[in-house]
Amino acid sequence: MRTSIDVFAKAREHERLEQLRAARELDLVPYFRVLEGPTMPEVEMEGRRRIMLGSNNYLGLTGDPRVRQGALDALDRYGTGLTGSRFLNGTTDLHLELEDAFAEWFGTEAAIVFTTGHQANLGALGTILGPGDTVIADSGDHASILDGCLLSRAKLRAFRHGRLDRLEHTLEKAAGDGGGVLVVVDGVFSMEGDVAPLPQISELCERFGARLMVDEAHALGVLGARGAGSCELLGVEDRVDLRMATFSKSLASCGGVIAGPADVIEFLRIASRPFMFTASGVPAALGAALAAVRICRSLEGPELFARVLDNASYLHRGLTQLGFRVVEPTRLADGTSVVTPVVPVVVGDDWKAALLWKALYDGGIYVNVALHPAVPPSGALLRNSVMATHDHRTLDRALQIFAEVKRAFEAEHGPLPAAGGAPVSGLSRAGRAVTRDENRRPDLSTPAQADRARNFPL
Ligand code: PMP
Repeated sequence: MRTSIDVFAKAREHERLEQLRAARELDLVPYFRVLEGPTMPEVEMEGRRRIMLGSNNYLGLTGDPRVRQGALDALDRYGTGLTGSRFLNGTTDLHLELEDAFAEWFGTEAAIVFTTGHQANLGALGTILGPGDTVIADSGDHASILDGCLLSRAKLRAFRHGRLDRLEHTLEKAAGDGGGVLVVVDGVFSMEGDVAPLPQISELCERFGARLMVDEAHALGVLGARGAGSCELLGVEDRVDLRMATFSKSLASCGGVIAGPADVIEFLRIASRPFMFTASGVPAALGAALAAVRICRSLEGPELFARVLDNASYLHRGLTQLGFRVVEPTRLADGTSVVTPVVPVVVGDDWKAALLWKALYDGGIYVNVALHPAVPPSGALLRNSVMATHDHRTLDRALQIFAEVKRAFEAEHGPLPAAGGAPVSGLSRAGRAVTRDENRRPDLSTPAQADRARNFPL
């Protein structure tokens, strides 16, 4: 008997097809825009120079001569590719040096380098966890974390973003599941840029005997005096069991790393399928990452970390003064607050976000657009991000364009969400009432729901 169902049907009938078609006709699709040069504070993009506020190049190191030289030296020495996995024929001294450098930077016993950050999350979660275990994830966690959880076939219990009361309740329930328990969170959440309340999370994990893993993708090279990330900033390095980071943001390259106890890292080397069954990163990527790590670990590192954070505050202040609703800085328990390089403007409606994006693009700024499921439904954001190498003059020019675009946009399409409005979705902490927006963040508490949230358009 022939099946009547075509597996290609989902490609031809999915829910966003109509929206995409209309957006394409109007040249409103903000994705796959073509760069014509390196990712710098200003870029050549589709025939025009534009201010780049849509990268993860937080320290601006993609153009640094030392990082470029690191890539070139590695290319000269090892050629274009290693043609196989680290396991069989793709390990070089660059990998080993990087692993030592990360273990030292994070203050862990050991570290293991993967080909990408996505694979690092897949390879750690998919190996450390098994079908009898429970994994607890913040619903704002990155897609690669969810993919790793699903790969592991552990029981997935998600809690609403940033809600410590929900985490506590979930830990209580997980204690009855009968297996080991791991909590995994982003240190800095990729879309809203907020920082996880790690002291409280680690305390809860200790109370319930759960392990804790933190993804430092957006915090490495940015937060903490050594730039080691959110765990360092919040003083919980000794209380976190596994740390993950990627080379694709502050380190201006491509690759990923997991740092933790030596026996666990050794286990990953011989049991992690996304580590063993994929090719090693290309030598140029490793050489560039190593050069970037050396810069971060030199006296220059803290200057760069301070500069990117200063630029983030500058842009945050400027956009707020223009009347945009910008995601608020994270308030810490000691009363201070942290602005991260991710400075998102809340738009709400998907179509309005695309129209605003296009107006900014035509005005000479490139930003990222985050739509559901990367954010809650009706929670569309323009995700702006800064580099240490932006100067205030360039940011002032960007703010001028934002001001002009806002004026014209609101005259035509009505008001955008205003500064100082209701709390932005997903940013609550325990003890605060749940807002309507927070209730709309996709609940990932069943695998089917988690599955729908996997394909974040990053
Ligand atoms: N974790 C987070 C929080 C991320 O934002 C990303 C990349 N967008 C990754 C992991 C995956 O890293 P990579 O790009 O190196 O695969």
